[in-house]
Formats: sequence, structure tokens, C-alpha cells
Amino acid sequence: MIKLFTIVCTVLFTFGYFAMIHSAEKQTLLNKKQLSVVSISAYAAAGAIPELENALNTGLNAGLTVNEIKQILVQLYAYAGFPRSLNALNCLMSVLKERQAKGIKDDLGKEANPLPKNKSLLELGTEVQTKIVGAPVKGELFDFAPDIDIYLKEHLFGAVFGRDNLDIQTRELATVAFLTAMDGVEPQRKTHWKVAQNTGLTEPQLEELTRIVKLQRALPHPNGQMLFRIAEIVVYPQYLNEYIKFVKEVGDKSVNTESGVVCIYPMQVKRNKNQIRIIEIYTDMQAYNRHIQSAHFQKYKQETLRMIKSLDLVDTDALNLQTMNRVFRKVQNNETVYPKGQIGSSDWFNGTVYVQPLVNPPEIENLYSIGQVSFEAKARTRWHTHPAGQILLCTDGNGWYQERGKAARPLAKGDTVVIPKDVEHWHGAAKDNGFIHIAITNIRNGSGVTWLKPVSDEEYPE
Ligand code: MN
Repeated sequence: MIKLFTIVCTVLFTFGYFAMIHSAEKQTLLNKKQLSVVSISAYAAAGAIPELENALNTGLNAGLTVNEIKQILVQLYAYAGFPRSLNALNCLMSVLKERQAKGIKDDLGKEANPLPKNKSLLELGTEVQTKIVGAPVKGELFDFAPDIDIYLKEHLFGAVFGRDNLDIQTRELATVAFLTAMDGVEPQRKTHWKVAQNTGLTEPQLEELTRIVKLQRALPHPNGQMLFRIAEIVVYPQYLNEYIKFVKEVGDKSVNTESGVVCIYPMQVKRNKNQIRIIEIYTDMQAYNRHIQSAHFQKYKQETLRMIKSLDLVDTDALNLQTMNRVFRKVQNNETVYPKGQIGSSDWFNGTVYVQPLVNPPEIENLYSIGQVSFEAKARTRWHTHPAGQILLCTDGNGWYQERGKAARPLAKGDTVVIPKDVEHWHGAAKDNGFIHIAITNIRNGSGVTWLKPVSDEEYPE
């Protein structure tokens, strides 16, 4: 299995590579509906149910009707067998139920007209097959095993293709996707590549299909306890900014919310900005499997597939795990000196802010209080005053300090701010970076602060 995977990847990343460049330049791309047909077909043929679930949702959102999808998944039985077809239809059923529960009304689409009564399935199938192939289909194989010829004509081209609520072009698109997603069916894939062009699909569109399905297949395999990998990705220049947004988002979300995702660290190659490298570390294979089934990863994968020119997943063995652990311990210890604390009240802050009290006033005769405040990007205090002033010691990230009527002052780790008494001001994080400071707040007559209005988006520095 691993060998096979390697071969598929090698073919993809060598031969496929040049074809990909051409298809992007011509811009003859599959439309959104067709892209969904490709994803649904490929995942269904591969039996990748979590991925299929996501692709079905995307397809329904893109305007595929329930009956169109049903036809694709029924047609699948002729290529991947009843088990894959039945599992995919089950998946569609549960997706539809979930969507219904959410109040989404999906378009059922057209029912198929009854099959013509004046001809047999064999006649109908022969007609359809001859039409799309461009000539009557004959061959030694069919003389050798005439039954399979009859089944092909009666079942596939008669009973299945005869249902007229899915057009022939979409059926061929689905077929090429099925066959690209499966191993050991190269002759059939090649035949249908040609047949698909008879139905009006262009070569660049089929190249795009191939690229996308092979990217979808490029799933990794287990390798030891922890998983260490470098993903080497080339992004089409026109999608670069959009891609970076997605990759940052999925990295953030995965590292923050999944305990088994140790590291998803995307980097941009300086000498070629279209190349992105991602260092990925997972605690174990289970964590990795959970990760690829998560909604945020599925969303990232679905949305960015067409932006990626090539993808190479370099699975590695760590050579010095002990040091690796120390590296992470260092990163963790340097992250914050004190614990993050609890989320601060929205009566005082905008955005997500954590407050960790360090010294409470009663401990020092109610003279002052000391606390650490951690702002997420863009989060900030309201405008406020301190009756006896305040000192800020900036310990991490980037932020702002602004007094009413004055320009905002940028702050970074290591900066100190002395805030005079009764001066209206605010402090908080930069728009794209978190910020942590320790606040020493003097107390007068039992009060340390008077909260005023929030800092509006217009007042917040761009
Ligand atoms: Mn203050």
C-alpha cells in the first residue's frame, strides 16, 4: 500500500507537474458544480466517508440537486462495486438529514423519466454506448466473455445512463473522477478520458480533474509514534494571498483546539514566494486522523485544492527527539511568564482578553494591584482613567497605548509605559499580533480605574 502510494505521488509530482502549469495558464477550469462532482465522485469511489461528507455539503451549497448526486452515487456501483455505492448513498442520506435539521432546504431536482418502453435495456444501452464512444464497441474480450458485454450495455449504459435526470457530460466527469481515484484501472481511465471529450469536456478541464483527485489522494501513511512531516506546496500565484489566509487559519485553529496537533507551522520560501513549507507534528497517528476529519481541516482542504499547483508530503523520522522536546519546552516557557488567567469582562475590554491577578490590593494595604493582561490580536481595553496612575511592563507581542487627543504609541516586548493620573487612555494588542503586559495600578480611595466608552473600530489604529 505504501509502495503504491509512493508511485502515485511520484507520477503526480513529475509527469503531472507540467500538465498542471498548462491547465492553469489556459484558465479553462471546471466550474464550481463540476468541481463538486469531481470531489464527491473521487471520495465516494475511494470510500473516504468523512471527506465525502464535506464534499456533499459543498456540492449541495454549490447547487447540485439531491437527485443529481443520487445518480452519481448509483452510477458508482458499476465502477467501484455495490459496497462503495451503498456507503456513499448512506452518507448522502445522513448529510441531508443533518441539513434538514439545520433548516436548509435542498433542491431535490428532477425525477428521471421512465425508460423508453419501445426498446429493451440492451438496445437502449447499445445506443447510448455507441453514441458517447463514437462507434459501436467491439473487441476480443467481449467475444471471449459476452456476458460482461451484455451487463455493460444493459446495466451501465441502459439502466443507469438511461436515467435522464443527469446529463451525459456530468456522468462522464464523474466516471473519470471514479477511475482516477482508484488503483489498477488505468486502461479504463484512459478510455473514459477520451469519451469524456466526446461529451464536450476539454483536456485542460480533465487535467484539472486529475490534479485535484491526485491531491486528494495524497494522504500520508503512519510512520512511528509521533508524526513529523514537511509539506512542500506550490501555490498558483493568483491564489497566493487567499491560500495564505486559509493556511494560517487552519494552523491556528488546529494548534489551539486539538491537543494532538503539536505543530502546524507554515513558512513562505523567500526566494520563491509561491512555495509554502509547513512543518507538521502530531503526537500520534490517532491525533493525525482526528485532525484530518476535523471540520476546520476539511474546510481548508476543500477550499484550497484548486489553488495548489503541486503538493509533496515529506514524511520524516526525527533524528533527535530529546532535543526536539527541549525545543518545545523552551518555546512553551518563553510563551508567557505567568499563566494566561481568566477571560476578562466585556464591560472593560473589546475582543478576547485574559487577566491573571498577580498581587491583590489587600496583600499590600490597598496601595496597588498587579496583574498580567493578555490581549489577542485587535483586543483592547475601553477608554479609561486611573485616579493614581498606572505602569505597564510589556512582556510579549505588539500593541498600542494611546492617550485621548494624542497619536497612538506602538508597543513591543520590553517597553514600559508610565500613565499619569486622570489621563484618559486605552491599551491593547496590534491588529495582527497578540500582546501581553503586566499592569501595576495605583489605588486611591479604594478605586484603581474608571471605565469609559469602548474604543471604536474607527479610533483603533490601522
Ligand atoms: Mn490603563
